[in-house]
Amino acid sequence: MTDCIFCKIVSGEIPSKKIYEDEDIIAFHDINPQAPVHFLVIPKEHIVSAMEVNAENSGIIARCFEVIAALAKKEGLSEGFHIINNCGEKGGQTVMHLHFHVLSGRSLGETLV
Ligand code: AMP
Ligand code: ZN
Repeated sequence: MTDCIFCKIVSGEIPSKKIYEDEDIIAFHDINPQAPVHFLVIPKEHIVSAMEVNAENSGIIARCFEVIAALAKKEGLSEGFHIINNCGEKGGQTVMHLHFHVLSGRSLGETLV
């Protein structure tokens, strides 16, 4: 996707503070952190949102969670953290390339769910 910020981060066209990369996934610090630790885990493939997950691409989503678990250990988040996915315009999604927020170090809206 030529006009997607996160595809441009994947290609290196836009710089990012990368903390993980493999063939299918990258993780990088959020540019506008909402907690002391706030990074994003994204598939390199341009999947628009969680609404677009299907039998063909769900393996990569499972792998995103493997990466989140590994990074949580590496970044010292063993006491707990939040994984947030905003889905669609009314779900608060602003970048239309599926991503998981990982936040730690501050309590976020325990009453939300
Ligand atoms: P969402 O509102 O769930 O779509 O989240 C999009 C997130 O991407 C926000 O937390 C932004 O701060 C973050 N973001 C936008 N542009 C960049 C960028 N160039 N590098 C890192 N994070 C970004
Ligand atoms: Zn994209």
